[in-house]
Amino acid sequence: MYAEIILKKGKESSVLRRHPWVFSGAIATDFRLITDGTCVRVMSSTGKYLGTGHFQHGSIAVRMLTFEEEEINQKFWNQRVKRMVNLRETLGLLSPEGICRLCHGEGDELPGLILDYYNGVVVMQCHSVGMLNHLTEITNALKTALGKRFKALYHKSSDTLPRRRDVQDEYLYGDCPTPHIAHEEGIKYAIDWISGQKTGFFIDQRDNRSLLGKMSKGKTVLNAFCYSGGFSLQALKNEAKLVYSLDSSPKAIALTERNLELNALNERHVSVIADAMEFLKELPEPFDIIVLDPPAFAKHLDKKHKAVQGYKRLNAHALRQIKPGGILFTFSCSQVINKDLFQHTIVAASIESGRKVKILHQLHQPADHPIGAFHPEGEYLKGLVLYVE
Ligand code: SAH
Repeated sequence: MYAEIILKKGKESSVLRRHPWVFSGAIATDFRLITDGTCVRVMSSTGKYLGTGHFQHGSIAVRMLTFEEEEINQKFWNQRVKRMVNLRETLGLLSPEGICRLCHGEGDELPGLILDYYNGVVVMQCHSVGMLNHLTEITNALKTALGKRFKALYHKSSDTLPRRRDVQDEYLYGDCPTPHIAHEEGIKYAIDWISGQKTGFFIDQRDNRSLLGKMSKGKTVLNAFCYSGGFSLQALKNEAKLVYSLDSSPKAIALTERNLELNALNERHVSVIADAMEFLKELPEPFDIIVLDPPAFAKHLDKKHKAVQGYKRLNAHALRQIKPGGILFTFSCSQVINKDLFQHTIVAASIESGRKVKILHQLHQPADHPIGAFHPEGEYLKGLVLYVE
């Protein structure tokens, strides 16, 4: 039987609307003795059952797993994993050798759980302690739902739960040497979840990389913040004239070069290890297309103002430098900067640069990173494609 958490009077409305978070300030029960990660039943002040979730001390005290009367057992996990696999199949994204996000936390009604699929290997990251209690059930559910497509499961939560020193990064099922080759839109990527950032690859830019590919023929492209080179590979595959890939991390440049070699696309390419802001102040040659995909400038609300200034400066530099008739792909993955604020910031950068700008596309995260309709905070990746006269 799970412990009960009773909410303060009037605090049940967001849970009734199926918002997946209960904030600590909404709770009437003394929860000091409840341990992180336990499943709790959330009750209204009048004793009505609202749902079950994972408790964790902090501002978000409960992450809701269900709003039904049900136990969080193997049957629950089988149903949930089947549901997310079905969605990716419906989207046509689950090809055996391919790459896709299988579980996107709140967007898949499983707050705290990330599962990425790379040609038979699933990489799991837990963002909540509660998820650590279900590793066996999740593994079993993946076996049932994926069948022969499932070769290995690697659990990597040391980055996301750094205080849990007892949790090892390790294979929970099968194993697979890295780098491991997986395919995205006809391009091969060597993916290393062990030494790479996050789960090894930025799956969320798939559609945006593909859009860049369609515009790249005959163009000179600067891919700033390139990580493993996805935008560069799409541009070169689509006959770009010349592509520069830039990252401040030598490891990222090594990943990009390995992927270029793997696809025999390493001609017409220049690698640069540098700070993007510095490099953009004085470019070695003019570019037709510039891609700016920086890491999140603001991870918390208190950094929002500084982050806005950072995006503005970075984009103003790129806008000043880009060729007349050029195209800027610009992104923000900071959750605290919403779509409107991002667009305002880019408009401000355009004014500062003195360039005339049109918005061609408003971009966002792809369909395998769904946004829960009751959890608008789940929208994190925003992008704009600008035409610079
Ligand atoms: N566009 C990439 C993902 C980018 S992730 C893709 O499609 O896969 C962000 C990258 O920015 C990381 O590789 C990080 O090393 C790099 N980075 C962080 N700060 C930087 C800086 N100041 N200048 C250049 N690169 C930077």
